[in-house]
Amino acid sequence: MANAYQKLVDEFMAKLIAKNPNEKEFHQAVMEVVESLIPFVEENPKYKAAKILERMCEPERTILFRVPWTDDKGEIQINKGYRIEMNSAIGPYKGGLRFHPTVNLGILKFLAFEQVLKNSLTTLPMGGGKGGSDFDPKGKSDNEVMRFCQSFMTELQRHIGADTDVPAGDIGVGGREIGFMFGQYKRLRNEFVGVLTGKGLEWGGSLIRPEATGYGQVYFAAEMLKTRGLDFKGKIVCVSGSGNVAQYATEKATMLGGKVVTLSDSEGYIYDPKGIDAEKLAFVMNLKNVKRGRIKEYCDKYPEAKFVAGKRPWEVKCDVALPSATQNEINGDDAKMLVANGCYCVSEGANMPSTPEAIEVYIDKKILYGPGKAANAGGVATSGLEMSQNSMRLSWTREEVDQRLHNIMINIHKNCVKYGTESDGFINYVKGANIGGFVKVAEAMLAQGLV
Ligand code: NDP
Repeated sequence: MANAYQKLVDEFMAKLIAKNPNEKEFHQAVMEVVESLIPFVEENPKYKAAKILERMCEPERTILFRVPWTDDKGEIQINKGYRIEMNSAIGPYKGGLRFHPTVNLGILKFLAFEQVLKNSLTTLPMGGGKGGSDFDPKGKSDNEVMRFCQSFMTELQRHIGADTDVPAGDIGVGGREIGFMFGQYKRLRNEFVGVLTGKGLEWGGSLIRPEATGYGQVYFAAEMLKTRGLDFKGKIVCVSGSGNVAQYATEKATMLGGKVVTLSDSEGYIYDPKGIDAEKLAFVMNLKNVKRGRIKEYCDKYPEAKFVAGKRPWEVKCDVALPSATQNEINGDDAKMLVANGCYCVSEGANMPSTPEAIEVYIDKKILYGPGKAANAGGVATSGLEMSQNSMRLSWTREEVDQRLHNIMINIHKNCVKYGTESDGFINYVKGANIGGFVKVAEAMLAQGLV
């Protein structure tokens, strides 16, 4: 980056950090975006004069609340509840809820900030938001999870609505939690509307929504591979995580002919050199979604696999990496190891799984790198399709939703190529996704005046 731009980036970041201290993930997410956007904004003075970037970094509304509930022993528990309504320039706030003990304001602001650009990239009319709680569903009974979700929704319901703010799932929030929250919303408001996405099929959900993030991540990887005349057939694939995104990334990569050899959770990773085929994946889905067990139990069932405790899967040799667990799960050393072992494609299912040092390695080595805000946008895109079906009171077939999802991912890829292709032909997907997502939101903000 030219020195003049670097100075502007440094000044922008110094102000942002002073205004939002102790929010290091938020600083990291903004930094990655302003590095590509400041040169673009300098070339387009209308955005600069209206302070669009500065406004996009300040949530339109931040809601913080107490979530009291009673555990199975009768003891009172108190958690923190949050909803960040970041930007509604192009549609109602939209973005997931995360239940995890690490949740704090900085993490949710990073997620909400990324969500604004991601939702814009989908081409659907959705603004950006994010929320959640420091509640940990792990080890809780179904009744405890229900009581927590009911208490959480008792406050959240006054801030959201089908045309205002439509939350969805994220880490720790799956079909069970969405069900309990939807039930409580309906009870308090006496209305059956599409106020949450990720609902069950019997009560307003969309086919393919559970699959959408992982499928979309693999469709995006396939588009990137295509630019180099490659596809998934016979490729070795490392997946991290073993939750919703990881499971369906594994399924789609396998369907396209790849061999997925790893999955992980916060305790370590499993390596199965024979590949995690459909039958083994069915075992994982039951283990994680029904029994709520740990990934190491895979090795009891399939002794050909080994469990590596306390480590992440990036030391395993692969062609394609699909990080699908959490933020900052690939650092600079992991990225160097991946590339040294021959990996040439990283498509992010998780949000911000790569540290800035890791991204520097990908760009420096010119590998195919799809950042989360582009590569994992299939999840929220399909949430947008669920909203459309709810509004029409119709449901589309599996094939129809999958086809729409696939087309959206192809179009997001095209948009990244449009804004991210550099003079030597290298596609910088970071720049492409940031500028591609920014333009639509910025134009809407200009048109709507200073609000
Ligand atoms: P799940 O809760 O279903 O699964 C999360 C997985 O990641 C689990 O295997 C979990 O292991 C692991 N994990 C979570 N936190 C950590 C941590 N601190 N260290 C190591 N492993 C961890 O969540 P999702 O699959 O829905 O979400 C995964 C990622 O994808 C997140 O970054 C999320 O923001 C992103 N995403 C999700 C979308 C969706 O539609 N669900 C849409 C777009 C992005 P353990 O059980 O041990 O905690």
